[in-house]
Amino acid sequence: MIKLKSPREIALMREAGRVVAKALDQVRRLAVPGACTAEMDEAVAAIFREHDAIPLFRGYPNSTKGKPPFPANICASVNEAVVHGIPNRRPLKEGDVVSVDTGCKINGWCGDAAVTLAIGEVRPEIQKLLDVTSQTLDLSIRAMARCRTWSEVASLMEKYVKSQGMYVVEKFVGHGIGQDMHEEPQVPNFVSKALRKNDIRLEPGIVLAIEPMVALGTKNVATLDDHWTVVTKDRRASAHFEHTVAMTPEGPRVLTFLDD
Ligand code: MG
Repeated sequence: MIKLKSPREIALMREAGRVVAKALDQVRRLAVPGACTAEMDEAVAAIFREHDAIPLFRGYPNSTKGKPPFPANICASVNEAVVHGIPNRRPLKEGDVVSVDTGCKINGWCGDAAVTLAIGEVRPEIQKLLDVTSQTLDLSIRAMARCRTWSEVASLMEKYVKSQGMYVVEKFVGHGIGQDMHEEPQVPNFVSKALRKNDIRLEPGIVLAIEPMVALGTKNVATLDDHWTVVTKDRRASAHFEHTVAMTPEGPRVLTFLDD
């Protein structure tokens, strides 16, 4: 069941979204050679504390029974890591890319967003990966204004990534979001079988975390033995961008932007 949100509830989600955006803006300043992802995690924890925001990632249960919960406030996934990387003290190097995903809850409502950042100068191929992934997110939000169902949007996302010679990672998808970070429906970045059978109507009040993950060489992924970090099978780079987006009678509204 998809829980539609009222304008008042969407306004509350915007508060959480603004703090997530503020946290990622702080992370952006730390994305320089020699910095480390643990520092990014500490900066985000401080911002969440300052706003009385509950971090949503810390303590998140592992999908494999008996394996450790997620230990940090951000997922920090470097280079071949796609998602769910654990922050650490390894210095970032010129030419690396780091995907940072974070979420928080304020007054009972959630926000969730991600960005992939270049560390110094990156190779043109890597810059193109970042551009294509961020453009895929942008085009999906724009398309929500005129598409009636999510499969129409997902098809555009998939086609754009393919046209650029890259791959949509299919193992992980976006999600509904509200009082819980992960609500129904699942929001794939491609036209999945499930979507064909049971499409999502883009009606006012639906709030989705849209999060395309794109890889340079393959859509196939593997999980490392820390039981969290997901990497590309070919160990080539991947990127991830995410916004929490509400459908309103006036069209799609991004909730995880820094300024209105
Ligand atoms: Mg998400």
